[in-house]
Amino acid sequence: MNHPQLNRFPKYKKRGTPQSYTTDEQSVKVEGKHIKLPKIGWIRMFQELRFEGEMIRVTISRTAHRWFVSITIDTGTPNTPRDTRGLPVIGVDVGINSLATLDNGTHYENPRPLKRYERKLKREQRKLSRKVFLSQNWYKQKRKVERLHYRIACMRLDAHHKATTEIVKGASAIGIETLKVTHLLKNRTLSKALSDSALGGFLSKLKSKAATLGIHVEEAAEFFASSKTCSNCGEKKEELSLSDRQYQCVSCGFTEDRDVNAAINLKNLAVGQMES
Ligand SMILES: [Zn+2]
Repeated sequence: MNHPQLNRFPKYKKRGTPQSYTTDEQSVKVEGKHIKLPKIGWIRMFQELRFEGEMIRVTISRTAHRWFVSITIDTGTPNTPRDTRGLPVIGVDVGINSLATLDNGTHYENPRPLKRYERKLKREQRKLSRKVFLSQNWYKQKRKVERLHYRIACMRLDAHHKATTEIVKGASAIGIETLKVTHLLKNRTLSKALSDSALGGFLSKLKSKAATLGIHVEEAAEFFASSKTCSNCGEKKEELSLSDRQYQCVSCGFTEDRDVNAAINLKNLAVGQMES
């Protein structure tokens, strides 16, 4: 396969910008755990290729002083929708306290890695600011900071991938909310917690994994009040503070964990949409 847009003269990049380049499949060879890169030669990889098929493009990038190679492969086999008979429709509520809550009561813990490493990160960044700019020690310290950022990102990604894979595997369809965080971002503590949770990234992973398996994802309209509505009788509360961890319906007396109640509403919405 030919990708002419890739066969152009390499762009010069500034120092300090993310370091990466993409090359076509013709200049790269992979054998087992080894990869041959142009100019550089054979290099050992951390793991073997997990897919068979035609290599389309190869991107080499550096993050936190580690080199990564990302290989796009056309496996030639179209994704066949999975048999989901017997699997339930699942409602997923995302949040800060629990990363995700399912209508059946399953909670996925939110690792909030930034919160955990915040003090250490601050300390290392302070150290960096005291080094002589671009000196050997400055670079050394910079790598330390980069590695910490990388570890934080990895922890977040890991939690997201584990939860989304598990949810998608057990569902025939999924109901989710549309994130509307703009009004929450004004609150500083909350906005920090929100960006640390990266809920948008979580939902997009969930959606893409569901799409791969051919599972329908129903996204609630932005005005859909998943938290304020009683999942038992449909009564809608005017006010619901973030600190109310329990949902209590004044109309029918229904009591449920706040997030579970929201997840049930999202499930019902998805079920209703599937039936109509
Ligand atoms: Zn009710």
